[in-house]
Amino acid sequence: MSPEYDSSAQAKERLSQIAVEATQLLEETKTSYGEVKELIQQGVKNAMTALEQFAKLQNLKAEAMYLSLRHDVEVEELELPNSGLESLTAFWRDLESTLQPVGPSADWLEKIRKMEERRRRSPALTPEEREELELRLKENVCPLCVSYALDGTCTNQSFETCPITIFLDQVVEMIEDMGHRPWMEDYFERMYRDICPGCQGRVDKDYCPPREQGDCSLFTYLPSVVKTIETFLKERAEKKVIAEESEV
Ligand code: SF4
Ligand code: SF4
Repeated sequence: MSPEYDSSAQAKERLSQIAVEATQLLEETKTSYGEVKELIQQGVKNAMTALEQFAKLQNLKAEAMYLSLRHDVEVEELELPNSGLESLTAFWRDLESTLQPVGPSADWLEKIRKMEERRRRSPALTPEEREELELRLKENVCPLCVSYALDGTCTNQSFETCPITIFLDQVVEMIEDMGHRPWMEDYFERMYRDICPGCQGRVDKDYCPPREQGDCSLFTYLPSVVKTIETFLKERAEKKVIAEESEV
């Protein structure tokens, strides 16, 4: 099994090596599959030739038998070749099972499962990160919001706590998972799919009163929320790289 890569710099280096190895192996694999295909095509061609030859042999045998019967002369019986169909059937079965697509090794699948489990258990944000992100959202989104009062308080009637705060971890996970998308529609669709079903605001799948009334700040200001979180995540990743590099 490959060693662990503890820093993201090491992981990036290994990822470039993987890309090079994979490109080379991909070409070699394509060549090997191509050769197998050519051999099979040649085998089918040879089988057709053998079939024609066998049919001619059968006709010769029949003609000899006919002449022997008609003129009462003895003929030596023609021996016909064995097609080897039985051993070919076994060979074909082996070939078919060898050509079935294979998955990664059990070791790698287990490592991926454990890593996914670990990511699921760990919160998207540490308490400090959450505090900082909430502050940035307050600075960037609240002044745009219809529920924002000039004294800085929130007058939202539909929620005791702002929906952006309620679903902050999920929104962060959603954005991390999606990566950057050029279309806001993608974020809205993911929000309807991943976040809205767990929200008490909506009455049914297609009707959400806070959203209709402009009281769901998450929905109304999603573009600003996404932008703020993306910037935060980018900066967090850059800080992590700097910290790792200073450790090396
Ligand atoms: S609803 Fe949310 S975004 Fe709007 S003012 Fe209140 S806290 Fe800010
Ligand atoms: S759109 Fe409706 S269901 Fe979705 S988060 Fe906002 S209030 Fe909740």
